[in-house]
This record gives sequence, structure tokens and C-alpha cells, in this order.
Amino acid sequence: MFAQTYGATTLGINGALVTVEVDIANGLPGLDIVGLPDTAVKESRERVRAAIKNTGFEFPVRRITVNLAPADMKKDGSGLDLPIAIGILAASGQISPADCSRHALIGELSLEGKLRGIAGILPMAFSVAETGRTAVFVAPDNAQEALFGGLTVYAPETLREVVLHLRGEAVLPPVEKAPTAAAATAEDDLAEIQGQPVAKRALEIAAAGGHNMLMVGPPGSGKTMLARRLPSILPRLSEQEAVEVTKIYSIAGLLKANTGLVAVRPFRSPHHTVSDAGMIGGGRLPKPGEITLSHHGVLFLDELPEFPRQVLEVLRQPMEDGEVTISRVNASLSYPAKFMMIAAMNPCPCGFYGDPSQQCTCSPGDLRRYMKRISGPLLERIGHTRKSLVYGKVG
Ligand SMILES: [Zn+2]
Repeated sequence: MFAQTYGATTLGINGALVTVEVDIANGLPGLDIVGLPDTAVKESRERVRAAIKNTGFEFPVRRITVNLAPADMKKDGSGLDLPIAIGILAASGQISPADCSRHALIGELSLEGKLRGIAGILPMAFSVAETGRTAVFVAPDNAQEALFGGLTVYAPETLREVVLHLRGEAVLPPVEKAPTAAAATAEDDLAEIQGQPVAKRALEIAAAGGHNMLMVGPPGSGKTMLARRLPSILPRLSEQEAVEVTKIYSIAGLLKANTGLVAVRPFRSPHHTVSDAGMIGGGRLPKPGEITLSHHGVLFLDELPEFPRQVLEVLRQPMEDGEVTISRVNASLSYPAKFMMIAAMNPCPCGFYGDPSQQCTCSPGDLRRYMKRISGPLLERIGHTRKSLVYGKVG
């Protein structure tokens, strides 16, 4: 017996429809999943088996083959549990195969058969809509995000509810759009800052031209406070930009419930202990890094010389290209990364070089070593060369 269902996965910041084909044949009982599944998809075998049994359905004691198409596309995440489970139930005659191939199904299953939300629903919902499907089943946690795709959304709590709906025995109501919180505006406004006319002017010029900027000043002179307020003077996100940023936050699992599209330009301020993968993205289960989370917004690097050199070096290429490419075993994927970089540093290790009120206690050697820690090519992206870097003071 054969059945076909539809699920989705993410590719970079976009979603892609996955066709789940299930064949049940005589032979040694077992469940095989083929078609470039990653570890999370392979683990789905055990979750699907337990979920089907624990919701009162029959797990066929025959040879089950699940093929995820297209076969040359790497599938990641646990969101394919639901279409695999429904496919098995259809191929074993517990649901009519014709009833289960009209919708997309996206969700992770718990062992007891509950549906769990996953990251990246927004781009997946868009890809489902683009391929002409009109409805999607997702976990309740993901329901509001899925509505952005313009689809009819069903949000069952359990696998059992999905089956009863598909059989027409207990029809689920479509999810309605929750009232969204008023469109957020940048919380911190540059206008709140008293004084600092030079630093404010520099920020305005940087904002107007989308320039990167390096602020040099003693500790406590307000560098962070100023940088944090930069998004308040940047132009509003266009609709297209807002969709891109929201997709990124959806994939990173950072989208807050019921807030609508992200309306404020991102401001990211990674600590200097951030790893390469944390900065540019990647990892075993690839996630967007800080530079992608800053897309269309601001990446603030406080205490620039404290960042390990190689972390600053990996920033160079993405800053030129506006995107970052991450190589993986079976494919490479790219994330957008167009951001304004604002860096801040003390003028010297003690922080008081050039300060009229307090004496700098650093030796010339200390100063040289301090400046050497920042990469020359990175400074060129900001518009300085190390030689011509002028010590200025914020405050
Ligand atoms: Zn000093």
C-alpha cells in the first residue's frame, strides 16, 4: 500500500515543500527513512512509532519505507514527524490516502502523540502557499505564525485530532488571527540623550549613509547607550524587509508569539566570547548567526579589541557580500547579512588615553599591542586604517 503526504523543511531562510511517500510491503518489519534526512529526521522513526501506538492507532508490523522528495535536498528538523505518521496511517488503510494529500502537515510528535511547535514555520508556510496548497496543520504554538502564509491553518493538540479531522469524524475549526500587539517602535530613542552633540551627529551621518562606525572613548562615556539608540533614527523597515527579518527570527526560534511581522530594525550586541558559528551562523543544526540576526539592522560590537581575531576575520567576507555562505556535508546554504556595524572600544587598555581629566597609565608598548588586536582589514571596512585612526573622545 502506498500513500503520499506533504511536509516542509527550511533551506537557508526559505522554506521548501517536502513530499513524503510511504510504502508498506511484506517483509521484515521495520521503518526506513530515505532521501537525505539529517539526524533529527532519522530520530523521527522512534517518535512516530510511539506516537501512533500511544494515540490508539495501529503501527503496521510490516516493512515500511518512507521517501522524502526531492531526494537531493537536505531535510532538517523534527517537523516531518507529522506527515510521516499520517503517511503511515494512510498507507495502512487507517485514513483514506485521498484525504491526507491535500494539505501540508508540519510538526514534531511527542511519544504520547502530542504535537509540538518547531522553529521556521513562517518560511515553511510561505513555501506551502507558493506550491498552491491552501491549508496546513501545525502545533498550536505555531498557529499564528503559520497564518502569515495566507493559508487556512488547523492547530490540533494531538495526532489523534489530525486523524479524526482527516476522517471527517471531528472537524477542527480553522485558526483565527489573534489581535496583534500594537506595532512596536524602537524602545530607546536617540532624542532622549542629553548633550553628546558630536557623537549624535556622527550617528546621524552613519545612519543616513548606512556606514559602519567605530566609537572610541573612555569607559562610561555612553558608547553603548548611543549605539543602542541607532535603530530609532534608521528608516522604517519596508514590507519586504520586514518579511525577511521575520523569516530569520522564525528560523532562529526567536519570534515572540502574536507580535506580527518584526517592525523594528534588529539591534544585536553579541558578547566578545561569541564563537565563530555564533557570529556567522552554522553549527551541527545550522542556525543563523549574529550577523544574520542583524540583517537590515545594527550589529554592535562593544569592546572590539576583546573579540578574538578569528571571529573578526570571519566578518570580513560577509560584510562585503551582504550574505554568508555556510558549507555543510551535503550542501551549502546562505543566509543574508546586510547590517550596519557599530564597534566601540576604549582608546587604550586603561581607558584614559587622551583624557584631560585622568592620566593614562599605559606604556607605548601596551598601546601598540592593544591596537594590533583589531584586524587592519576590518578597520578598512569601517573606513579607517590603523595608521590613520584618530583617537577621539565620546563625551
Ligand atoms: Zn591607558
